[in-house]
Amino acid sequence: MSEYQFNFKPFAEMTEADYAEVGFRSGLEIHQQLLTEKKLFCRCPAGRYSDKYDAEILRHMRPTLSELGEYDGTALMEFKTKKEIIYRINRETVCTYEMDDTPPFMMDEAALDIALGIAMLTNLNLVDELHIARKQYLDGSIPTGFQRTTIVGVNGWIPYKDRRIGIVQLGLEEDACREVSDVGHRRTYLTDRLGMPLIETVTAPDMRTPQEVADVAQICRRLVRSTGNVRTGIGAAREDVNVSVRGGTRVEIKGVPRIPRIPLLTYCEAMRQWNLLRLREELRGRGITPETFKAETEDVTRLLQKTSYLPVRDALDAGLAANCVVLRGFHDLLNWQTQTNTRFSREISDRVRVVACLTKLPNIVHSDSSSETISSSEWLAVRKAVKATMDDTLVVVWGGREDAKTGAQEIAIRAREATIGIPSETRQALRDGTNGFERILPGPDRMYPDTDLPPIKVTEERLESIRRRVPVPIWTRESWYKELGVPADVVEPLAASRLAGLFDVLVKDWNVSPVAASVALVQFRKRLKKKGLDVRPLDEGALRPIFALFRDHKISREGVLAFMEKTARGEALPPLGEIRPASETEVYAQVAASSAALRSLKIHNPDRKVHVLMGLVMSALRGRVEGASIVERVRAAAEEKC
Ligand SMILES: [Zn+2]
Repeated sequence: MSEYQFNFKPFAEMTEADYAEVGFRSGLEIHQQLLTEKKLFCRCPAGRYSDKYDAEILRHMRPTLSELGEYDGTALMEFKTKKEIIYRINRETVCTYEMDDTPPFMMDEAALDIALGIAMLTNLNLVDELHIARKQYLDGSIPTGFQRTTIVGVNGWIPYKDRRIGIVQLGLEEDACREVSDVGHRRTYLTDRLGMPLIETVTAPDMRTPQEVADVAQICRRLVRSTGNVRTGIGAAREDVNVSVRGGTRVEIKGVPRIPRIPLLTYCEAMRQWNLLRLREELRGRGITPETFKAETEDVTRLLQKTSYLPVRDALDAGLAANCVVLRGFHDLLNWQTQTNTRFSREISDRVRVVACLTKLPNIVHSDSSSETISSSEWLAVRKAVKATMDDTLVVVWGGREDAKTGAQEIAIRAREATIGIPSETRQALRDGTNGFERILPGPDRMYPDTDLPPIKVTEERLESIRRRVPVPIWTRESWYKELGVPADVVEPLAASRLAGLFDVLVKDWNVSPVAASVALVQFRKRLKKKGLDVRPLDEGALRPIFALFRDHKISREGVLAFMEKTARGEALPPLGEIRPASETEVYAQVAASSAALRSLKIHNPDRKVHVLMGLVMSALRGRVEGASIVERVRAAAEEKC
């Protein structure tokens, strides 16, 4: 029996045992922008985004031998694409450093402090001397072709379930450009994001199910946010997820924008790899191996000149060429399922799209296809021209003469790779949860020392001062909150909140009830936000005096909410010295007055009556009394006036 017997079930039906069966393993590379004023190696402002630009720079890609005398896979691929790269430059956000016309400035100190703090939180061994390196980036997203990067710590861990997830390393590096468009042979970038400080946290491939990958990503996200020193919002945190299955290859899915999308994406990638391994088995069964693989290409432009299939007809009418690649012995294999609703033909079409830049789809047709493409008599003519039998599969690609040639070569290359297994490549996350080819994985030798910058000593004093400011890790907080009886839905948001420190003071030093404090810090803010109020003014400084009134029994929990709302609305609080709880007489008078108001409302349901009267009294007394202490009196009043 084949070791690839297992068949992937629909996403919702896959169990932990199923993932164990296919040997699912996954790790994360989390890129997180740091909240600094400046970029990492120049003094341009960070985080100022705009689509406006003052100038454009045009660049062409050229492959050069690496320091080790080899061509990098990505470099070769990018060269084949013959792309023109355009950089848009805004004078406010970019200087000559980013364009490689000025040497780097010293590293931004604030960025380094933040990175060291986060490295401490993830239990990493910190380096005592930072060495700046250049990491090759040949996809065009960095004009210089390299990114400056440095490793801050190695070999850490975070707790998860009953085990530890390894943190391989944490790097501090520069962000790349934002892509604007990529059409045909032209790709355009905005440069405002370029050079902003970013940390890259690399986990070990310790996650065993797609859900675990999302869980760990979520923990890491909340952990860094708990420092208050990272950027939030669209694009501020980006995940690369790597996935492998037993007998497979580590494949990276790049730039996953939202954590909830991770489970389906990793499931689809595991399925793709598994099905590619099954495809290899099938090919072996047919006697097709890397050694026996055969493919030939013929120009079929003349044969298809009169086709009624419009995508080809239009192209040939415009003077483009069509090539046919015959894949010997591949009959029906382009229909081999790879992902949900995705077949092997997509792997080929993706390559043609990215490498030959034939971006207009469809860019291939093939003889395994059940849908209407070129006519059967045309297929017959093509089949004759390339001397194909019914065991073979034909793939037709069209485009400019050079692109059609590159396309045909890529078709043969990708088909041959199916006899080897799973190509090493990076893939991009697609909206439907599947993924598509992005580029060939760069070689491992992408790093070399940067001679522009001296090493940076990390002193014990510096570490000590950072250590004092680093928050208690979220997992430590969460278990303490649970012991205190903090409501379950408040535990996680509070642990990652910047107000977690205030909670400590309230509970430990002021003896405020943990439930009251946590609910106010998390739920009340949420409620005010829902009302459309800006809760940013509700920082520690604003909240302290309000909680002091609560601690001294001058206001109730409702009073805390009322005063928080006033602050959020930008209204002044009454002079704090004059605030006192409502007296017995005041409460008595207010219940009487509100009962009179209630009668005019004509409410018949008795329960509803109590509720409304309570609301009237509480809002009139503005939180100067605990609702629980007057509920009996209100109930009596409501019933008495029936
Ligand atoms: Zn700059």
